[in-house]
Amino acid sequence: MAKITKLLIANRGEIALRIHRACHELGIKTVAVHSTADSDAMHVRLADEAVCIGPPPATDSYLNIANIISAAEITHADAIHPGYGFLSENAQFAEIVELHNIIWVGPKPEHIRIMGDKVEAKRTAAALGLPLVPGSPGPLETIEEALKIAEEVGYPVLIKAASGGGGRGMKVVPSAEQLESLMMQASSEAKAAFGDSTVYLEKYLGDPKHIEFQVFGDGNGKAVHLGERDCSIQRRHQKVIEEAPSPVISAEQRAEMGGIVARAMADMGYRGAGTIEFLYENGEFYFIEMNTRLQVEHPVTEMITGMDLVAEQIRVAEGEGLSVTQDEVTLTGHAIECRINAEDPETFVPSPGLVKNYVAPGGMSVRVDSGLYVGYKVPPYYDSMIGKLIVNGKDRDECIRRLSRALEEFVLEGMKTTVPLHQRIIRTEAFAQGDYTIKWLERWLEEQRA
Ligand code: ADP
Repeated sequence: MAKITKLLIANRGEIALRIHRACHELGIKTVAVHSTADSDAMHVRLADEAVCIGPPPATDSYLNIANIISAAEITHADAIHPGYGFLSENAQFAEIVELHNIIWVGPKPEHIRIMGDKVEAKRTAAALGLPLVPGSPGPLETIEEALKIAEEVGYPVLIKAASGGGGRGMKVVPSAEQLESLMMQASSEAKAAFGDSTVYLEKYLGDPKHIEFQVFGDGNGKAVHLGERDCSIQRRHQKVIEEAPSPVISAEQRAEMGGIVARAMADMGYRGAGTIEFLYENGEFYFIEMNTRLQVEHPVTEMITGMDLVAEQIRVAEGEGLSVTQDEVTLTGHAIECRINAEDPETFVPSPGLVKNYVAPGGMSVRVDSGLYVGYKVPPYYDSMIGKLIVNGKDRDECIRRLSRALEEFVLEGMKTTVPLHQRIIRTEAFAQGDYTIKWLERWLEEQRA
């Protein structure tokens, strides 16, 4: 067991701040790393120490492994937390961190590697007893093989990149005639985007929900699940609103599927936080992928479990094991998160700029995770998400009413944001009913434009 005394945060924005906050509550000092575009960022201001690791492009700074390791060495940081995105699912980075005798606040590198290859991930999931979307058992080698499998599972099918991520590198194939050309396209696009042309095939589910389970393992054969999140409000396969619990999952289904994923993680010897993502249709779960890191939407789980997931990650990394057994995990009330992006709420064109005025909502059970402050200039180089509004209530109705009130209070002048979009979404009948699917938002946006 090794106590962490100083932790380097290899990330930026709201998640860097989130990690800093957990560390300071635990008495751990923090080191921020930042690009020259982020010198004035809130996480840099609040951290105990800060090291500039390069120019604005992420490849030269937040993805620059050598500079991040050097920053850890010169500041004598004894641990690194990668947040989400950037290097969080880079197995090689995790290995390098450990080779330098720095504690990696994340899963074992071999598990990051397996789950980072979606074909390998599906094989592993199948071996662990998780239900899969029907499709190719491995990478597609020939067009004949693809045609045969597509025929078996039935059109439409989806061609996906083994190394894909962020909803990119997917092609829907409506019928056999288009299979060959779309498979070639998908493969060359995957090569260009991810440096890996490997593709595989899945049945394209017509109108599923996206339901994911939060899991935690101690790395030594113990694991728990912390319930599910419903992340079906998506645009271009990107999550927009997330909630926990899902309005359509019963306590029995939760216990059953949660039990299956927790057992799978225990069998695997998984360490730290992870998310098992499923599509859910006609009462059935279908595994699509596992994320071996903390998720953007982790706060909704924190709200209903009362657990600090970053503190839990740190505890596991220190070798202290899990703070709870499955029986001790209790889910109370309901929580919803809105991702707030610096974007035009109609066209989704990014709108970075200077924060001229900012008043965050407050009051009971309202949480805002954001690095915004008046005078801060949102740089144009990174993701457009500038904050998250998370609200909880004793039940879903109260939670939605509180969210509506909190969105009303949100004041941000100087750039366009998606706040008005969230206000409109949560007032719809589909959202009130909770039975929306992954296609609902895009369909509704089309209708609004017409
Ligand atoms: P990524 O790693 O790029 O996010 P995922 O496999 O997690 O890729 O899929 C992202 C999203 O794409 C899902 O949330 C869902 O909206 C859609 N999707 C993925 N697989 C299928 C499928 N077989 N059928 C229908 N939609 C799918």
